[in-house]
Amino acid sequence: MAKKKITLALKRGASCVGCDIAVVNFSEKLFELLEIADVVFSPTLIDVKYKDLEAMPDKSITIGLYHGAVRNSENAHLAEVMRKKCQVLIAYGACAHMGGIPGLANVSNREKIFETVYKKTFSTENPEGVYPQTEWKDEKGRTLTLPEFFDEVYALDDIVDVDYYVPACPPTHKMNMQILELIKAWVEGKAELPPKGTVIAEEKTLCDECPRNPGKEKNIKVDRIRYISEVNPDPDKCFLEQGILCLGPATRAGCGAPCIEANMPCRGCMGPTSRVMDQGGSMLSAIASILGIREDEIEISEEEIEKLVSQIKDPLGCFYRFSLPRSLLRRVVEDRR
Ligand code: SF4
Ligand code: SF4
Ligand code: SF4
Repeated sequence: MAKKKITLALKRGASCVGCDIAVVNFSEKLFELLEIADVVFSPTLIDVKYKDLEAMPDKSITIGLYHGAVRNSENAHLAEVMRKKCQVLIAYGACAHMGGIPGLANVSNREKIFETVYKKTFSTENPEGVYPQTEWKDEKGRTLTLPEFFDEVYALDDIVDVDYYVPACPPTHKMNMQILELIKAWVEGKAELPPKGTVIAEEKTLCDECPRNPGKEKNIKVDRIRYISEVNPDPDKCFLEQGILCLGPATRAGCGAPCIEANMPCRGCMGPTSRVMDQGGSMLSAIASILGIREDEIEISEEEIEKLVSQIKDPLGCFYRFSLPRSLLRRVVEDRR
């Protein structure tokens, strides 16, 4: 008798499509996934239309993976449809988890973005200052529509209820294998799914599993922050010990540290552990300590933050590259920077 299969749907929002490629990166293990799951909706993998998803009965899809942030009304609508149709909804990748790189647009707002793109860009000729409209009637009276561009970028759970999170930009092969094992065990009745809200990764920091970790007893002190482009890093030594910004102390482990292995510092795409409220704040604290601005890592004054931040060319991009919509700052409009 043929085994009972679950169904899978993949839908993207404001995404670079890297997370679709990450699914392909299951490589030969994709066959194991397809033995237990039928892909019923994935505009990247099969020929389907949005109306096909909308026509499916509610809760008829076992697991839905939504990747990408929510930037416009189309992304939000399809997030809601996915929530309705899927029994389990997973925010897959840093954009769905925390807003990701598109979330950096929260340093601006719709008005400023439109002004730059549709008026100020040197290749734009737009003397009447026309902006995209959500509805427009052509000369034959037909109504053409465009999704509404939101004023800010959202993570998936700002819009709909999310069951699980798979972080990283994009989730690595190691993480995909963890999901595969989890689903297989569940389908075969050998294990329950984890508690709702679980981030499917580790609860320790990347430093805790990094082979370069100099150990807690070693008190790292450096004179200044260096950029990876300025130095030829020692492949065996902790990046922070070399003065190179590495977000390992403020980042969740579980990706398998592919960047460190490739002699590149961590940029923090897994987001913070559940014990940390704000990834950037936690990293600022760690850097303040290694620069000798303060010995403890509890609280930093505004003056100390300024002293520290003045050494870093793009503090927001460094500390909140993947997590701005999920941070305590949430958004910072340009004029106030
Ligand atoms: S998490 Fe990274 S790879 Fe995935 S959609 Fe966002 S930017 Fe692309
Ligand atoms: S700071 Fe970076 S290089 Fe150093 S131990 Fe942590 S993850 Fe590894
Ligand atoms: S090492 Fe850092 S940047 Fe690289 S995948 Fe892991 S969390 Fe992301």
